[in-house]
Order: sequence, then C-alpha cells, then structure tokens
Amino acid sequence: MATRSITDLALRGRRVFMRVDFNVPIKNGVIKDDTRIRASLPSITYALEQGATLILASHLGRPKGGPSPEFSLKPVATRLSELLGREVVFADDCIGPVAEAAIAQAAQAGHVVLLENVRFHAEEEKNVPAFAQQLAALADVYVNDAFGSAHRAHASTEGIAHLVTESAAGFLMAAEVSYMGKALTSPDRPFVAILGGAKVSDKLEVIENLLGKVDALIIGGAMAYTFFKANDVPVGKSLVEADLVDTARDLQARAKAQGVQLLLPTDHVVAEKLEAGVPVETLTVGDPAIGERMGLDIGPETAKRYADVIASAKTVVWNGPMGVFEIDAFAKGTNAVAEAVASVSGTTIIGGGDSISAVTKAGVASRISHISTGGGASLEFLGGRTLPGVAVLPTA
Ligand code: AMP
Repeated sequence: MATRSITDLALRGRRVFMRVDFNVPIKNGVIKDDTRIRASLPSITYALEQGATLILASHLGRPKGGPSPEFSLKPVATRLSELLGREVVFADDCIGPVAEAAIAQAAQAGHVVLLENVRFHAEEEKNVPAFAQQLAALADVYVNDAFGSAHRAHASTEGIAHLVTESAAGFLMAAEVSYMGKALTSPDRPFVAILGGAKVSDKLEVIENLLGKVDALIIGGAMAYTFFKANDVPVGKSLVEADLVDTARDLQARAKAQGVQLLLPTDHVVAEKLEAGVPVETLTVGDPAIGERMGLDIGPETAKRYADVIASAKTVVWNGPMGVFEIDAFAKGTNAVAEAVASVSGTTIIGGGDSISAVTKAGVASRISHISTGGGASLEFLGGRTLPGVAVLPTA
C-alpha cells in the first residue's frame, strides 16, 4: 500500500518539519557535491508554494553527540539559499529557544529554516522520546524526505512521527519507496538484478531476497571470485571471502532449484596489482594462466553476454560495479553494463555510490528511470527489511 504523500496534507500557514538527507561531502566549508540537497528541492519548493513555513532538519557526518564545527550544516544553508533564490534562516541548535527564534524569524520572511545537525544531540541516534518531543514541538506536521536515513530509527526519522498529529512522505521518499517497492512486489518481467562490488557479505541479504523474485541474477566485481572459489575455479590473488564460499555454493544451488538464471563471468581482465598502468591480460575464467594475478574486471565476452540478458529485461535493479572501475583499464565492464542498463526500455533502478558514479561518468544517468539516493537504505530495502523511517509513516 502507498505511503501518505506530502500532497495529502494541508500545508498553508502551517509549520512543516521536514527531515531531509543533507549529509553532503563538505571540505573546509565547501560543499563538494550538492546532489542530496537538489534531491529534496521538489518537496521543499512544493511546501513553500503551498504556503508553509518550512523547518528543515538533517544529520551531517558522525559527530560524537556534541556540537563540532566540521559537522555544521551552516554551509548547506548558504547553498540552499542560492538554489532556492530566497533567504534561508539558519538555527544554531535544532531544539529549544534558539530553534524557535529562528522559526519565528523565518515566518516573517523567506519561510525556510535549516536547523543545525540533529546529531549534535546524542539523543537523536538513541531515539530518546523527550528529544523527539522537542523536535515535534517545533511544528504542526511532519514530512520525511530522507530516504537515505530511513533505515535508522532515530528521533528525527522515526520517534518524531509518533508525536505529531499528521505525517507523510516527501516526493523523494515516495519515489524511492514506489520504484523499489514495485520491483520487489510486482515487477514487469523479465526482472534482472545486477550485483557487483567488493563483497558478497555486504549484499548477501539482497542476493537472498532477490533470488526469490528475479528471472536472472547477474554477478560481477570481486564478489564473483567467492563463487568461483566455491566451484574450485582458480582465482589467483583475486578478492575472495573464504568464510562465504559455502554460502556462495548454497546460493547457486538455490538459484538452480528455483529456476533463476545466476550468471557469472566467463572471461576476465587480470593484472598483478590493483594499479593504473600495470600490464593487463584478458583470460577465460578457469584458465590457470591467472597464476598469482588478480581478476579486476569482467572480460568483453562476459560484458556482451550480460548486455544481451539486460537488453531483454523489463525491470532492472543494479547495485555495484563490475570491476575496479576507478581505474580506466578495469572500467570497461562497468561502462558496458551502464550503457546496457541505460538502453533498457523498461524500469531501471540504480543504487550504491559506485554504480551511480559509473552511470554519471558514462554520461547515461538521464536515461535511468530511478537513481536511488540512499546507499545503505536501498540495500536494506532490497534485502527485504522494513525501514523504520518508512514503516512509521501512515498509508494513504
Ligand atoms: P561496493 O561498495 O561493495 O559496491 O564495492 C565497490 C568497490 O568494489 C569499488 O571500489 C571497486 O573498485 C571494487 N571492486 C570491484 N570489482 C573488484 C575486483 N574484481 N577486485 C577488487 N575490487 C573490486
């Protein structure tokens, strides 16, 4: 069932507490990437157009439960003001008289307040009800647009929702939940999942959950080597999670029993070291000539086979690169997959920072249906977990 949306709330003249994910990279006071700020602009501008006074709250980094200048959201207020073309009042504290005074000031002009980092209070992460109550006291309604933080039951993502009379999801949150929710519950078929990256362990839950839902599961990146090891295929010095070899064998058996195609690379690019400029060679998987070298990308034959399977899909979920894409010599497989996913005519969903950089670098991001902003949250969602920040919101 769909979550209640911001459009279901009456906002005119009301104080709206909106939890956003403004956890952006900042160095020496300069924002390095404002994607997360831009991602909530639709909810922010909608609330302002509706005539609300908007109180924005977020965390930034991992301060140790007390104020610390390097984790201040102040630079974000400046950037947000530029993006909105209106004044954004910054409140030096997220609760109490300081926050209240800033909100009163904003109610006179601009109508936007950004509260200081909620994690400057240790009670935020502990989800202490008295703290959540102090946040709730600032507003009339609660909107959560912070999908990236929805897997955490913190005061500003979960506790507060129990203490306000009305709450709903913002546009970003609603889009995340509806795209990934549909893929998991009623995907257009064939449904193909592509999982890559460094470790099987990080994505084990996702693999297990998706095995029961997809038509094909494509594996790339270092995680393929744990599967190879399970099949006694020579892997040289490639990354293997020895403790997951039995699990990998079990997953392959389950895929077979369920009639799910589990695809592993048949050729790969190997090198002595994970370094730019080292000599590389493309080998068939299983060729003992790998010696003591490492597998660092899928090979061209595999890329072609994967692209063909992806081309037949009506729903694609992709998380994790096919190789060490940060180095050009090992980026071809990931780029080929990015291009193949972008060419799909159905629904394409990409999550995980590395896959997102890969599609951005390949210049195909605009051809992806949905790029998830929440790394950890999207993995938990795809792994079949209930996200506390989503579960607490009422259904429409
Ligand atoms: P993850 O965060 O789990 O999606 O992993 C992403 C990282 O996996 C990237 O930094 C890649 O360089 C790395 N990676 C992908 N394939 C390999 C490989 N074959 N060997 C070593 N690292 C890899």
